Amino acid sequence: MKDVVIIGGGICGCSLARELSKYQLDVLVLEKENDVSFGATKANSGISHGGYDPIPGTLMAKYNILGNRMMEGLCEELSVPFIKTGCLVVAFSEDEKQTLKDIYDRGIKNGIPKECQAIFNQDALREKEPHISDNALAAYYCSETGVVSPYELCVALMENAVVNGANISTSTKVIDIKKIDDVFSIKTNSDEYNNIETKFIVNAAGLYAADIHNMLEPSPYSIKVRRGEYYLLDKKYGPLANTVIFQCPSDKGKGVLVSPTAHGNLIVGPNAYFIDDADDTDTTPKGLEEVRIFANKTIPNIPYNANLRNYSGNRAEPSTEDFIVGEVDSVKGFFEMAGIKSPGLTSAIAIAIDMVSMLEEAGLSLKQKANFNPFRTFVHLDYLPFEDRSRLINANPLYGRIVCRCENVSEGEIIDAMRRPNGGKTIEGIKKRTRVCAGSCQGGFCTPRIVEIMARELNIEVDKIFQDKNGSFIVSENAFDLSKVEGND
Ligand SMILES: Cc1cc2nc3c(=O)[nH]c(=O)nc-3n(C[C@H](O)[C@H](O)[C@H](O)COP(=O)(O)OP(=O)(O)OC[C@H]3O[C@@H](n4cnc5c(N)ncnc54)[C@H](O)[C@@H]3O)c2cc1C
Repeated sequence: MKDVVIIGGGICGCSLARELSKYQLDVLVLEKENDVSFGATKANSGISHGGYDPIPGTLMAKYNILGNRMMEGLCEELSVPFIKTGCLVVAFSEDEKQTLKDIYDRGIKNGIPKECQAIFNQDALREKEPHISDNALAAYYCSETGVVSPYELCVALMENAVVNGANISTSTKVIDIKKIDDVFSIKTNSDEYNNIETKFIVNAAGLYAADIHNMLEPSPYSIKVRRGEYYLLDKKYGPLANTVIFQCPSDKGKGVLVSPTAHGNLIVGPNAYFIDDADDTDTTPKGLEEVRIFANKTIPNIPYNANLRNYSGNRAEPSTEDFIVGEVDSVKGFFEMAGIKSPGLTSAIAIAIDMVSMLEEAGLSLKQKANFNPFRTFVHLDYLPFEDRSRLINANPLYGRIVCRCENVSEGEIIDAMRRPNGGKTIEGIKKRTRVCAGSCQGGFCTPRIVEIMARELNIEVDKIFQDKNGSFIVSENAFDLSKVEGND
């Protein structure tokens, strides 16, 4: 009998696991993929939003403001890259100039202090962003916005939760839930965790949250899938934008942005259109063209020949048009963090803190742990001064053997990333934890070496190593047989 079972290892599930790991509880996260951060949390804009965008009075507005206030401290505790860049919403017409005033007022209503907001005229805007288009007339400025590495934050939250006693079972898909009296019985596709009992379930299954709800009763909400596509450019072009630059919002949401990332790259995107398949994260020529056309309005002549990769992420668009947070009245003990669309990355930690109080109110007994450790420490050579690097290399020469030359990642760090609690077991998993394969060569040079190190560490043959999803072999006669990749029909 587990105290709490969390379904989904995205930013919501992992934030909650970490919050619950502060108490003497048996907590289990079930994640259908082979690592955390596989859904919307993996592929988004990575913005910690200031909080001026959501409609006042909504849960999105409440949690956005609270989550954003906590983001910098959280990232410091967990050693996750975060930069408080500030953001701009740019007006290109007289009508849009009026929109800027509305945004400013909404920011005040949502609780952003006056001194953190401003309306810039064209000169002030150009001073802040020298590469902005000549057609940009004015901008709303919010100093509270920042950029964060979303998948690193998710990995860090779960790693810290595990260090503090929480458990996770990956490659474990919830396929059925039954409730008898006040006990839930959860069936999964894993032999190890096939019949889990608990009195408290939290549904944090992202795009699949309504499917989980349907296992207990017909879901009162539905979730549509809205894809967004991106360009990720070389770090050389990160300085093209100093802040997160938005255009005025439309019925398609916050629109195409141009922004530096927490690692100093430049991202451009996303567009927004509905698709049917929640697992389909392809990019399309048409979609990417749309992104280029919109972004060109903000910063002309972005050098797309310096593009490192394109990616897309799928938003969960709930029929409620707001986050769904709390206990389901008709199924006591069943809680939801569902329909968590943007600004969900920003809001997750605040939602998780509230969820802990709601669980307590529903009868979960909370006894604080005296030895909770909020910090995540690990070796990241690139962040260290020269003397510290030398000391580490003398102690362990594997830290001196650079494998990824683009991002300066050593063999020692790759091994650490696999051995750390809830460590990476795939190339993508190591990438999320170290940034191997994230630089200019995108793994072109270092992948063979990483595969060798992983095979040695995991004590398996190289042809058993996955790129990301289970079945995505990279060294095998099946390497190009996509039908072997889970979820690829
Ligand atoms: C294009 C795009 C841009 C965005 N930009 C921003 C931004 O800049 N700032 C911001 O604040 N927010 C942003 N968001 C929103 C943010 O990414 C999401 O709100 C957030 O990541 C949602 O987290 P989650 O944990 O609810 O869902 P997910 O990250 O999708 O996690 C759900 C998890 O549940 C697992 N799961 C599903 N079904 C099962 C099952 N049956 N059994 C076990 N596990 C299961 C999935 O595999 C997945 O790992 C953006 C989203 C998108 C798509």
